[in-house]
Amino acid sequence: MKTLFVTGGAGFIGSALIRLLIAESDWRIVNIDKLTYAGNLESLADIADSDRHVFSRTDICDRAALDALFAEHQPAGVIHLAAESHVDRSIHGPGDFIETNISGTYTLLEAARAHWSALDPEPKATFRFHHVSTDEVFGSLGATGLFVETSPYQPNSPYSASKAASDHLVRAWHHTYGLPTVITNCSNNYGPCQFPEKLIPLMIHNAVSDKPLPIYGKGDNVRDWLYVDDHARALRLVFERGSVGETYNIGGHNEKTNLEVVDTLCALLDELKPRHDRRSYREQKISVADRPGHDQRYAIDAGKIQRELGWTPQETFESGLAKTVRWYLHNPAWIAHVISGEYRQWMERNYGDR
Ligand code: NAD
Repeated sequence: MKTLFVTGGAGFIGSALIRLLIAESDWRIVNIDKLTYAGNLESLADIADSDRHVFSRTDICDRAALDALFAEHQPAGVIHLAAESHVDRSIHGPGDFIETNISGTYTLLEAARAHWSALDPEPKATFRFHHVSTDEVFGSLGATGLFVETSPYQPNSPYSASKAASDHLVRAWHHTYGLPTVITNCSNNYGPCQFPEKLIPLMIHNAVSDKPLPIYGKGDNVRDWLYVDDHARALRLVFERGSVGETYNIGGHNEKTNLEVVDTLCALLDELKPRHDRRSYREQKISVADRPGHDQRYAIDAGKIQRELGWTPQETFESGLAKTVRWYLHNPAWIAHVISGEYRQWMERNYGDR
């Protein structure tokens, strides 16, 4: 049984990827995650009994710990998702983004390179380092056009700048040292187990908690939305079948303004969990000052991964959003734990420094 390292596997997308790999592949997964506020092992409760999932509470900036993990588990590849991922947090405190997203990726690349260099020819040839990134590295689009793999990098937030820097490091480690890398740049994800600071889970949580639904500016910023399980399937395909040294864009063909997203969510909630006074959740919307440097529009051309690897999203925005809303309505404890910090205290008690 071959082993695969997944970094950030206790986060939103990483946990979806691990659930998919345990259910649909033979990979043995070593999940490397520091468990920041965004990491939550409860997101992996469905696969808690699997003996193909090993969790290691490790910081990707810790070279000695990474070397020990590579030596112990001899992975056939790495899918690297660990990151600080929230744009607003990066505006208020960019330091952690520089540390994890840039220095952490560098440290992981060096640990992976040392391991890969020492491999026998066959595992060396098939080894992959897959770096998971975002479409935000390409900057902001006007009313028309789509990001393609060759679009120029024009990151505008500390988050996207740190991800752009990590993409460049991965590219350089391939071109300079020959490390067999692939990179994916994906649009906005949504789905179960997303920390409720991001737009969709924040709005669901605030709506049912009788809190305002804060919308930046006019709510006319456009994002392309992809259901997280569709992203996880794409990641598996690119990791297993993508061409070395290549980049693949991943997107959902679902361009929506923030206002459209919130209105669709409110309509779903009106149907699934009507307010006690029977008025629409839309009445909870408020406009707040816009995010500084807020990119106007992101949109992805996912033609390359469709043509070369046969990937297409399975969910429409409507079907994916309905699944997401139902999941949050049925899992209030998951949200309560991540918000209250209770989960983190539980981890400290149960795992200590591990
Ligand atoms: P997330 O914030 O939900 O999860 C990040 C995970 O990384 C957490 O479990 C956290 O504990 C872990 N982590 C953070 N710092 C670490 C460190 N120093 N060492 C080890 N683990 C650490 O993020 P997400 O939304 O799941 O995003 C995962 C990846 O996908 C990120 O690289 C992000 O840039 C990228 N991405 C996200 C989206 C999106 O819409 N969420 C879209 C495209 C790309």
